[in-house]
Amino acid sequence: MSDCLFCKIISGEIPSNKVYEDETVYAFRDIAPQAPTHILVIPKEHISGCNGVTVDNSAVVAHIFAVIPQIAQAEGLTGGYRVVSNCGPDAGQTVPHLHFHILGGKQLTLEMA
Ligand code: 5GP
Ligand code: ZN
Repeated sequence: MSDCLFCKIISGEIPSNKVYEDETVYAFRDIAPQAPTHILVIPKEHISGCNGVTVDNSAVVAHIFAVIPQIAQAEGLTGGYRVVSNCGPDAGQTVPHLHFHILGGKQLTLEMA
């Protein structure tokens, strides 16, 4: 989608600090980290959010969850980490492109980070 912030990050139109990339997934550091390690993992295909996941496109979500432990290991998150996806305005979703936050590097509270 041409007016989507995260699609522009995937295309390189907007710069990002990449931590992982393959054919279907891109991961980069959050611009406003809520924890010492705060990474966003996104599908390269534009999916609006959790509500945009269907039986036809859900394979990329499974793949994201196979990639997340690899990223966590590479980041040295041996003590654990949190995976969060905000869905819709009540959850505070600000970018309408499906994304999973990886948060770690400290003892997390029951708040998001
Ligand atoms: P949401 O609030 O939708 O769950 O998460 C969106 C995240 O994107 C926020 O944590 C925010 O800091 C991050 N973000 C917004 N704009 C940019 C940007 O231009 N670059 C990067 N790296 N992260 C961004
Ligand atoms: Zn997008």
